[in-house]
Amino acid sequence: MRTQIVAGNWKMNCNLDESQHLLNALNQKNFTTTDVEVIVAPPYTNLYAAHQSLKDSPIKLSSQNLNENEKGAYTGEISPAMLKSVGVEYVIIGHSERRVIYKETDHLLAKKATTAAKHNLKIMFCIGEVLEQRKEGRHFEIVKEQLEKGLFHLSATEMKNVVIAYEPVWAIGTGETASPEQAQEMHQYIRKVIADHYTIKIGEQTSILYGGSVKPNNAKEIFAKEDVDGGLIGGASLDADSFADIVMSF
Ligand code: PEP
Repeated sequence: MRTQIVAGNWKMNCNLDESQHLLNALNQKNFTTTDVEVIVAPPYTNLYAAHQSLKDSPIKLSSQNLNENEKGAYTGEISPAMLKSVGVEYVIIGHSERRVIYKETDHLLAKKATTAAKHNLKIMFCIGEVLEQRKEGRHFEIVKEQLEKGLFHLSATEMKNVVIAYEPVWAIGTGETASPEQAQEMHQYIRKVIADHYTIKIGEQTSILYGGSVKPNNAKEIFAKEDVDGGLIGGASLDADSFADIVMSF
């Protein structure tokens, strides 16, 4: 069985106090009663304190990004070793906000994936089409290309530490979600693309999360789809009750 995962991407929200407050509230939730793997991705400045707060918790820690280099003259950047040193287990790579606002290319994301894999950081690799591409019927082609250019240079062994997040860009932060059928159709396709490139077994074992305006009121029907193994949650992850409700939607 694939790992079911619900991950919260806090983006550029929560100062240290707010972050600790949210983590305390999440620590009150009884996530030990579920098999779902729960992950939070606070901003860089809160990671170390978050790691301390989560010491006795099943909640895992992710960063929202990493630099592709080991160390050196990269002002303002954070290396994989730095992330490891503050207890980070996962990294989000290729979020659409990084692709669109910060112009991160498939080529750069491929380098980030290599660096993360080398440092044994688990990867949440985000892919997804913009609205225009969907309207033109190119969404499958776009997602396949993102996988091929950004991820498929990883070895089969490295792929075991990769989770895919399918996030149609038109559904992120917009209140609009893909229908459960649209999500299922794309997730099934992604699984096939992975199976064709690696093996059927790797395709079957790879967790594929849906992201895009998942809320407590729609999580259940999206997560009920066969190839949807959980969610990457933005806005609703900033509220402990909403996030916990989404986790418990399985
Ligand atoms: C995201 O940023 O990954 C995301 C899915 O955001 P939201 O849930 O707010 O749409």
